[in-house]
Amino acid sequence: MKKYLSASLIAMSIITGSCTHKEQATEAGEFDYTVDRFADIEVLRYRVPDFENLTLNQKILVYYLQEAALWGRDILWDQNNASNLAVRDLLENVYVNYQGDRDTDEFKNFEIYLKQVWFGNGIHHHYSTDKFTPRFSREFLENAIAALPADSPAPENSADLVELIFNPTIAAKRVNQAAGQDLIATSANNMYAPGVSQAEVEAYYAGIKVPGDSTPISYGLNSRIARDENGNIVEQTYRIGGLYGEAIEHIVANLDSASHYAENDAQRQVINSLIEFYRTGDLATFDRYSIEWAEDTASQVDFINGFIESYGDPLGMTGSWESIVNFKNNEASARTETLSANAQWFEDHSPVDPRFRKPVVKGVSAKVITAAILAGDSYPATPIGINLPNANWIRAAHGSKSVTLENITQAYDAASQGDGSKEEFVIDEPTRELMNQYLFITDNLHTDLHECLGHGSGQLLPGVDPDALREHGSTIEEARADLFALYYLADPKMVELGLIDNPEAYKAQYYSYILNGLMTQLRRIEPGKDIEEAHMRNRKLIAEWVYEKGRDNNVIELIKRDGKTFVKINDYEALRGLFGELLAEIQRVRSEGDYAAAAALVDNYGVKVDPELHAEVLERYSHLDIAPYRGFVNPRYTAVRDAQGRITDVTVTYDEDYSEQMLRYSREYRGLNR
Ligand code: ZN
Repeated sequence: MKKYLSASLIAMSIITGSCTHKEQATEAGEFDYTVDRFADIEVLRYRVPDFENLTLNQKILVYYLQEAALWGRDILWDQNNASNLAVRDLLENVYVNYQGDRDTDEFKNFEIYLKQVWFGNGIHHHYSTDKFTPRFSREFLENAIAALPADSPAPENSADLVELIFNPTIAAKRVNQAAGQDLIATSANNMYAPGVSQAEVEAYYAGIKVPGDSTPISYGLNSRIARDENGNIVEQTYRIGGLYGEAIEHIVANLDSASHYAENDAQRQVINSLIEFYRTGDLATFDRYSIEWAEDTASQVDFINGFIESYGDPLGMTGSWESIVNFKNNEASARTETLSANAQWFEDHSPVDPRFRKPVVKGVSAKVITAAILAGDSYPATPIGINLPNANWIRAAHGSKSVTLENITQAYDAASQGDGSKEEFVIDEPTRELMNQYLFITDNLHTDLHECLGHGSGQLLPGVDPDALREHGSTIEEARADLFALYYLADPKMVELGLIDNPEAYKAQYYSYILNGLMTQLRRIEPGKDIEEAHMRNRKLIAEWVYEKGRDNNVIELIKRDGKTFVKINDYEALRGLFGELLAEIQRVRSEGDYAAAAALVDNYGVKVDPELHAEVLERYSHLDIAPYRGFVNPRYTAVRDAQGRITDVTVTYDEDYSEQMLRYSREYRGLNR
């Protein structure tokens, strides 16, 4: 599971607190974080501090792991939509070979569209999953295709691709979550073959799941569902020799090189198990790999590489390919290690029914990391926290690894100083001041609590199917982790553990969270649309629920001033109590697998948008010119070799712009045959 940046309001925090952050602020002045700005996107760059302090072996390990990461790019594009790679090839061909005037509106709008497609890893928006609408004319593209040079011709099906780009009724949504529809038939992703229905898929998995299995494999994680020649449902497994085999061979070759530079035997075993999984596609091997990975807490360099998160599948089963390579930030990790060391205390004092608590919280490991490369589903849009593995029984029996990507949060923060959103949306100067002082640290602590403790807390009652909440599972799980974090941020334990120096600091996070959940996150939604993404639904669910339940006691007010709506929190202690109440209920829903209650919570609080308030938020943001979404280009790693070809150093540079990087990746990491 992952945590994404909640909103623009991180923009409001200024860097305060520990010396580490002050040093970063000084260096931030010399580093240009902003790379590109188009449509609703801002592209940033992140630093990889202390890479030069790694040993040569660690640098070479990072080098091969980031190669393994970049080689998976095409897999994700193809998972997102069956025509994505063909569309990308065509658009890049036109972009590179265009002979006409590049200063026309038509060409500039074409360029924006291509940048959007790059950012979405396909023709759909990475977050809303709606298909992009081109702002250039069909004639422009058709003429540009006709004018392509003879040595770089358009593909035979280019007319179909143009139709796909311009016809809004084809492949309109990548992941459809609308209740009551066939979620597979109406989703344009490529994890299910055309013509396969949701009912058939559910029947297929019901047929192969073993009832009462306490250590189930992650069914469907690494396969596309299709039909064989007799019309029966079959799984096409992602593996060497199977679907995506060519790209996986490149990934495995680099993993194999990396294994020679492993920091220790345990890490070498992790890499070898992953290679075995990629060779066989066997999900029991994946579980073994996941356990070994979760238990390797000694290595400084670490990585994720594979089919991990299932947000891209409307049924939440198939993993989207991704990779993140990273190394531990030892200084900052002291904070999360403190939380981990006290995990049992937090579990024992959680405001949920004792039956739903874990009697023994095992192996909650947590660290602050420096991301070295982002790839697949984590690029260019990037999580700020990750907690894996996802399999519940592995988390219960072997613990999970939880990380905060602090060089990413630091880049977000540095890039968004003084953008005006605080002045526009925060109710008064004292609240702004509190946020200036404490939002950065409480954002980081919220992420730590969410990832280290929130996802790892609680237990299912015996016999409860972990997938019982079906399409609401992701939203409820994220709500559970967020509520755990919100509840404990206000606990005196935080001051007692030395994680925060002011018992009032949590109010900065509470105000920011409610403001975001009720109002500011709406700027990411187009007028007339519902909220669909799981993290956004979870934040709205929480904010709307506490707003409604606290209404009689005036805990939270929405007040009007000069025609503008402001969030006013009158009773922060009561708000904490409400977070605790909702945590208890959400944990009950999860522990009992109460699908009806999950659906009611999500439908009543997490989905529908007040059109008037929505319009107001969009109007107020329109004056600020802040991109609703942000993502990153990667640094570039170069292996320095001696005359014998041995790597003697690995250097990191930050000079590539967004389009350059995308075009280079398309040239150099062409993983799949077309
Ligand atoms: Zn999460």
